[in-house]
Amino acid sequence: MLAWPANSEMVMCDCKTKYEEEIVKSAKEQLPDSTDHTAELQGYVLGIQKGTNDIVQRQAMQVVIKYTAHRKGVSRPKKLVQIVMASFCMFCGASLK
Ligand SMILES: [Zn+2]
Repeated sequence: MLAWPANSEMVMCDCKTKYEEEIVKSAKEQLPDSTDHTAELQGYVLGIQKGTNDIVQRQAMQVVIKYTAHRKGVSRPKKLVQIVMASFCMFCGASLK
């Protein structure tokens, strides 16, 4: 996991942090004999915010595109993997653009 300076990472809402804290709290209750509980929601990518150029965390979903390429008389199955970034927070609906 990349570590970014705290002042360069801006999040449009605090849902990620809030849910991670709640999950850790729940894990501590469910696993009381364990220590060092941490939780990190996956599915976030870093992006550049339009207008301000701030680095922001945005929810993202991986998309796999499959197709058959035809070149020089040979057909081969191909696969492209891309990311689709969310425009709104899936938890609170805040704009992430
Ligand atoms: Zn949110």
